[in-house]
Amino acid sequence: MIREKDIDALIETLETQHDINKEGLVTLLALENPSKLYQAADRVRKKYVGDEVHLRGLIEFSNYCSNTCFYCGLRGPNRTIKRYRMEPEEIIQCAKYGASAGLKTIVLQSGEDKYFKITTLCKIVEEIKKMDMAVTLSIGELSTKDYAELKKAGADRYLLRIETTNKELYQKLHPGMSYENRVRCLIDLRELGYEVGTGSLIGLPGQTLEMLAKDLMFFKKIDADMLGMGPFIPCENTPLENEKGGDVETVLKMMALARLLMPDINMPATTALGVKDKLGYIKGLQCGANVIMPNIGIDEYKKLYKLYPGKVPDNPSETVNSLENIKKLILSQNRTIGKDKGYRKKY
Ligand code: SAM
Repeated sequence: MIREKDIDALIETLETQHDINKEGLVTLLALENPSKLYQAADRVRKKYVGDEVHLRGLIEFSNYCSNTCFYCGLRGPNRTIKRYRMEPEEIIQCAKYGASAGLKTIVLQSGEDKYFKITTLCKIVEEIKKMDMAVTLSIGELSTKDYAELKKAGADRYLLRIETTNKELYQKLHPGMSYENRVRCLIDLRELGYEVGTGSLIGLPGQTLEMLAKDLMFFKKIDADMLGMGPFIPCENTPLENEKGGDVETVLKMMALARLLMPDINMPATTALGVKDKLGYIKGLQCGANVIMPNIGIDEYKKLYKLYPGKVPDNPSETVNSLENIKKLILSQNRTIGKDKGYRKKY
C-alpha cells in the first residue's frame, strides 16, 4: 500500500522535473483518486501552453482502407460499411469553409487508401497552403519518398498513432502490418521536419498499465510534438466487437501524465473521449489538453467514417465535434480559442 505522502511526492517530482520512472508511472496510473494528478497537469498546461485551445479542422476524405486493424470499423475486410472518397475539389471547398470560419489548421485524414496518387495529395496540400493554414496529414504508413514529397508540397504535421508500443500486442491487433515499419514512419517524419503526432488507443484487450507506462516513455523518448490518446470503443463487425473498451479515467490519467512529462506538447481532447463520455472534452481540457479537432467535413460522409459507434448521432447538430458545439464548450470553460497556427513552442 503506497502512502498518500509518497503519491504527493511523485506528483511533485513530475510537476517540477517532468520525469519519473516506469514504476512511478504505473503507480500513478493505478490511482483510485487521481484528482491531485489532474490538478498538477492542469497547472502545467496553463504554465507552458496557456489557456488557448487550438482548433484543427478535420476533413475525413476517404474511408477506404487496405489495413485490417482488429479494432477499426474501416478495416478493409468490413464489407458492411459504404465506402466513399471525396473529390479533391470537395476537400478544398471544406478547407475554404474552415479558413472562412477562422481555423488555422486543416487535418486531412483517411484510411490507408492507395487510390489517391501522391501528386494529387500534393496538389491538395498546395491549394490549402495558399489559404494560409497549417496542414496536418493523417493518412497512414507511406514510403520515405512519399512523406518527403508531401513535406515539400507544404505539409506541416503528421499524425500516426503507434496505438501500442507493446510489439506482441501490436502484431496481434494488426495482422499483416509491422511494428518496425510503424516506428520507421515516425522516425522518417521527424527527420523530414514534420511536427510529429502519435499516441495510443487505451483499453485494448490485453493492454496493461505497465504497457501504457512504456507508451508514455516512448513518446518522451521520440520527443513527440503532439499526442492523441483516446479510449478504444468496440465497433460492430470487427474482431473486437464484443470486447469491453477503454475507460475514461485511464485516458484522463494518461493525458495528465503526458502533460506532466512533456509540458509543451500539443494534446487534443480526442473525439473518442467526447463520444465515450458526454463531458469527455471538458474533462480532457481539465487534464492537460489544449487542442480539439472539430469535424468540418460533409455531413453525408461524416456518417460513413465509422471507426466506432456514436461518432455521428442521427441529429447532426448533436455531433460532439461540430465546430459550433466545440467553440461554445471552450468558452464555457473560460478558455480561449487559439488565434495562430498553434505550432509547438518548445521551452
Ligand atoms: N489510417 C490512418 C492511420 O492508421 O493512422 C488514419 C486513420 S485511423 C482510422 C485513425 C485512428 O482511429 C487510429 O489511429 C485509431 O487509433 C483510431 N481508431 C480506430 N478504431 C477505433 C476504435 N474502435 N476506437 C477508438 N479509436 C479508434
